[in-house]
Amino acid sequence: MGHRQQLIHSTSPLLELEKSHFNTIVIGGGIVGAGILRDLALHGVDSLLVEKKDFASQTSNSSSKMLHGGIRYLENFDFALVHEALSEKNLWLKLAPHICKEKHFYLPVYKDSLRPLWMVRLGIYLYDFLSNFQNATRGFADKEKTLKEIIHIKEHNLSGSGIYSDAIVDDGKLTLEVIMDAINKENACALNYTSASDISKDNNGHYKLTLRDELTDQERTVTCENLVIATGPFTDRFMKENLPQVQWSDKLLPSKGSHIWVRRTDFPLEHPVVLTPSDGRVIFVIPHHDRVLIGTTEEEVKDDFFDVTPSENEIDYLLTNLNEFFPGAKIGRDNITESFAGIRPLVMEDDAQNRGKTAREHKVFTPLSKLYVIVGGKYTTFRTMAQDITREIIKAQNISYNPDKTKVPLSKKCQYNFFHKPELTREIIEKIIKDELPRTYDDLEKRRIHSEDFDKVLTEYFTKHTL
Ligand SMILES: Cc1cc2nc3c(=O)[nH]c(=O)nc-3n(C[C@H](O)[C@H](O)[C@H](O)COP(=O)(O)OP(=O)(O)OC[C@H]3O[C@@H](n4cnc5c(N)ncnc54)[C@H](O)[C@@H]3O)c2cc1C
Repeated sequence: MGHRQQLIHSTSPLLELEKSHFNTIVIGGGIVGAGILRDLALHGVDSLLVEKKDFASQTSNSSSKMLHGGIRYLENFDFALVHEALSEKNLWLKLAPHICKEKHFYLPVYKDSLRPLWMVRLGIYLYDFLSNFQNATRGFADKEKTLKEIIHIKEHNLSGSGIYSDAIVDDGKLTLEVIMDAINKENACALNYTSASDISKDNNGHYKLTLRDELTDQERTVTCENLVIATGPFTDRFMKENLPQVQWSDKLLPSKGSHIWVRRTDFPLEHPVVLTPSDGRVIFVIPHHDRVLIGTTEEEVKDDFFDVTPSENEIDYLLTNLNEFFPGAKIGRDNITESFAGIRPLVMEDDAQNRGKTAREHKVFTPLSKLYVIVGGKYTTFRTMAQDITREIIKAQNISYNPDKTKVPLSKKCQYNFFHKPELTREIIEKIIKDELPRTYDDLEKRRIHSEDFDKVLTEYFTKHTL
């Protein structure tokens, strides 16, 4: 095949852009930037999104893959956030059922658990109350039922388990579908492998920035009236490097979290399980189709934030806790098929240096007129985060904001997701290359198609087609 890098040997899509001035430019192609682009497009605002790497290749493909209210945030009394996130979770279950699935989460309680049974029961009731009782289930399983439903779970001191509803999602694919939906409208455009830098103002008072195609090294200057920085955990660095005139002070407490995947045939778990180790953290063990996802960890990160990977310590931590709670499963390093890491874009609170307790709320800063910097939040609430930005941008243009515009299904589906893996045919590969915006072979392999047959089918495809 000979070409693991660039997939499509055309000129740079950056140079093919028909214009150089936009109403709004959004920097960052994770879920937050994607949600903003879609909301702007649905309101007819002419916009461009640029992403330095592949779309959804950083945090928005490295989450615990849950759309959830965050049951543990109840301990911090974050009731408004939990309520909002539960409404969003229930909305996406309706809008994108092919990619989000409701699941019954089991939370085993032991005689020596940090959170006793009464607290778990109260928490689950409150969680359902905050969903306006829209969550699918709530209840309790006694010891016998827990042992029957959760294979290999530790029996010693087990009292039973609380059961509540949350959703699992293919996070990378939902981000991609949100972008595809936006660019399906005439006024929106999105470029991956396009970094933004050197931001200043031109003589007309517009923002001027340099865009660079990271695959071809070609550059171009563009301008816009509104500039949105949606660079997630990269934001503090981005602001200091590219907008020195703002004198930005750090807003984030970056914290790395890692996950491992194991084969479901090695660990035949039916329901998601929430483990509560004695260090006070929470580990999710979640079956997705033919694999089980286990995470997460919490580690400070100081070096380069792009493409982070799990440390040995984090993998040890996950395996140790997994084997403590599932002694019969005997999962070791050999059972790990893949691992990944991401950086939580946690917003610093004045009084909270503890990462686990830092609120998952988002904040919008406008250090200069028409410059919007959005930080924090969580995947689940991306739609409402986007509303805060879009509302401001269109208010200035005398267009009325309609919050229901984004409550409609997405117009394009990815061919592959965790729950739907069709046989790879030439027709499907062609559709993916045409519609799903890959630019490199890795985009196909790592983020568009996950198939045991990937190499075989793609080799056949590429030997017959020179792209
Ligand atoms: C371990 C972990 C587990 C999590 N689990 C959950 C969960 O289960 N549910 C949930 O709701 N939330 C969860 N979250 C939080 C959620 O993943 C994040 O809040 C969300 O994905 C952040 O999206 P984002 O778009 O802000 O950031 P990102 O997805 O990181 O996107 C920012 C983008 O900006 C780009 N960028 C940076 N610099 C430039 C530049 N100069 N030019 C152009 N582009 C640039 C980056 O390449 C990146 O793609 C989790 C987070 C982590 C780390």
